[in-house]
Amino acid sequence: MELSSPVRYVKGVGEVRERALLRLGVRTVEDLLFLFPRRYEDRRCITPLSALIEGAFASVVAEVVSFENRPAHRKGLSIASVLLSDGRDTVSAVWFNKPHIGDMLIPGARVALYGKVERWGGLQLSNPEFEVLDESDPESVGRIVPVYPATAGLSPKWVRRIVFSALDIYLPEVRDYLPEETVRKYGFPELHDSVMEMHKPQGRESWLKARNRLAFGEFFLLQAGLLLRKRHRISARNVSGPMKAGEKFDAFLKSLPFRLTGAQERVIREIASDLASEAPMSRLLQGDVGSGKTAAAVAALVIAVDSGFQAAFMVPTEILAQQHFFRLKTFLENLGIHVELLTGSLSRPARRQALDAIASGGAGVVVGTHAIFGEKVVFDRLGLVVIDEQHRFGVMQKNALMSKTLSPHVLVMTATPIPRALTLSIYGDLDVSLLDELPPGRKPVKTHHMRTSQSGELMRFISDKAKKGRQIYWICPLIEESEQLDLSAAYSRFLDLKERLPDLRVRLIHGQLPSDEKEAVMSSFEGGEVDLLVATSIVEVGVDVPNATVMVIEDAAHFGVAQLHQLRGRVGRGEEESHCVLLTGKSTPEGAARIEAVLSTSDGFKIAEMDLKQRGPGEICGVRQHGVTDFRVANLARDRKLMERARQEAAELAAKDPGLRNARPLAEALMSKLGATLELAGIA
Ligand code: ADP
Ligand code: MG
Repeated sequence: MELSSPVRYVKGVGEVRERALLRLGVRTVEDLLFLFPRRYEDRRCITPLSALIEGAFASVVAEVVSFENRPAHRKGLSIASVLLSDGRDTVSAVWFNKPHIGDMLIPGARVALYGKVERWGGLQLSNPEFEVLDESDPESVGRIVPVYPATAGLSPKWVRRIVFSALDIYLPEVRDYLPEETVRKYGFPELHDSVMEMHKPQGRESWLKARNRLAFGEFFLLQAGLLLRKRHRISARNVSGPMKAGEKFDAFLKSLPFRLTGAQERVIREIASDLASEAPMSRLLQGDVGSGKTAAAVAALVIAVDSGFQAAFMVPTEILAQQHFFRLKTFLENLGIHVELLTGSLSRPARRQALDAIASGGAGVVVGTHAIFGEKVVFDRLGLVVIDEQHRFGVMQKNALMSKTLSPHVLVMTATPIPRALTLSIYGDLDVSLLDELPPGRKPVKTHHMRTSQSGELMRFISDKAKKGRQIYWICPLIEESEQLDLSAAYSRFLDLKERLPDLRVRLIHGQLPSDEKEAVMSSFEGGEVDLLVATSIVEVGVDVPNATVMVIEDAAHFGVAQLHQLRGRVGRGEEESHCVLLTGKSTPEGAARIEAVLSTSDGFKIAEMDLKQRGPGEICGVRQHGVTDFRVANLARDRKLMERARQEAAELAAKDPGLRNARPLAEALMSKLGATLELAGIA
């Protein structure tokens, strides 16, 4: 039996419970050892029943006197209640719709309960968690008791028992992958002790030490993986050799219709210096919506072409591909650079023609969706890939892409500011440039919160803006379950708005429209022939129409904060004052908090931090399924310092011992835990 053996072989588990454990993320014997309690109950200090305080949470131990289950007033509901006694006082505990707990709460049983104290006539514990105590089980009384996550078919108590017995047998076999030196340097407790402390804490302080040590370990492992991958990539020679800005680049700078911001100049220098080196660039360019990332990217494209290479510019949607294509075309063709568009929906002849131009090298720059990396696409001399709105593609696609195309220079851009801790953990192998300055003269977008019931007022506002020649976006609710529903909601909103605003030219755009129609709608909006554009959240990324100054987001509480921020970023791109109207009906407390967050600031990074706290890393970057940020202990939103230190340590190690010759346990842990995710094969 090994640590990596499936958990079903642990005595007492078996196949049925294995399935339940899988739901808790436990696959192997080792996972079981690292399945930590979700909270602890301090049963050293039990509240006597006489000391219960209304409104507070309390942990009590008492004996069951009687049990009863009766129907509630409302049909279909039942109330189970037990009378409890601690020898001096009595109190009741009640649960809704749990008729069967009477099977466990038999008179005479001693029970530990944890829950909220409320007053209904007398004091009672409402819906408490409980555990029937087994006096012969010393783990359950008189100490700090771990409460494990439960799932259908597994009680927390069963989980505790199985984890404890696994600890006795298997913990000694767990090897520490943190280098001894690091453990000493930080005065970390020993690994086995730390794991033990998590399960059976002695006290607050020792628990915290153990917890931080384990969190550090998790960060360290990921950082080591990312940094080694980076070293590996750098040491691979890039396809092109050094690139150098030339005539076209000078012409590009001269032809810009505006002065570059200081941040743009700095970023372009950073990119140019990467391109001038032997090693392939892998750089992440972060900049809030509207910070002018495109200009920086175009500078890179031009340098590549100047150096005799082709460059690809990849974006997540067709609309965006078309928009960028038209923009770049007029601009770059003046510099003598031929631009091709490649998306999945090109007609056959158009596609044939594009592929030929790409293969012959006639196309200097190719703009497109991921179709750019289709199998049939062969570049003559691809030297640079720019990926716009990277967060829309997902992390792993980026990796696949980088390995497929023989190490060209890669620049990825994202408009969703990513909290630093998260950047380091999912893009930890990239260099980061920051566009932290908006072009001059931008007025901040005024953000308003309106109720659905105020729609009359909103209609007046919209038609007033339209009369003044401004354009308006109206984003329809996001109905996640089905694109079809999204669509029908958008369609009926479109009809409704047309009727209510008869003087306005109203158009509808959504993802399922054929692409030439999408293109037609978008270009008439850009051309000012549409006043009000009703859209599904399709316009979220990248679209740039400076004359559009009003963004209405219907059912705004359903969107994530980062998404709201992105949508708001579609306006405020011109000289005129812009408005973003967040329209809500009834919303959940979380929804209201999101609205509040977006109203409170227009700083994308602040918003990103809030997003990380509210939704967690997996939701933000769509990385959940890849496991990169599936930490058992570490918390990206809170452990940022720990993460930075772990990264520092990992960097030192990667520099000193890139082959991990003196860190075998680390190399093994990397392979077994992150090998597949990070494609580390052959690196460590
Ligand atoms: P994003 O970073 O969101 O991709 P864009 O590159 O689309 O932003 O730029 C937003 C708008 O700002 C565009 O209309 C662009 O022409 C304009 N812009 C970019 N840089 C500058 C600058 N230095 N001065 C004035 N306007 C600029
Ligand atoms: Mg952009």
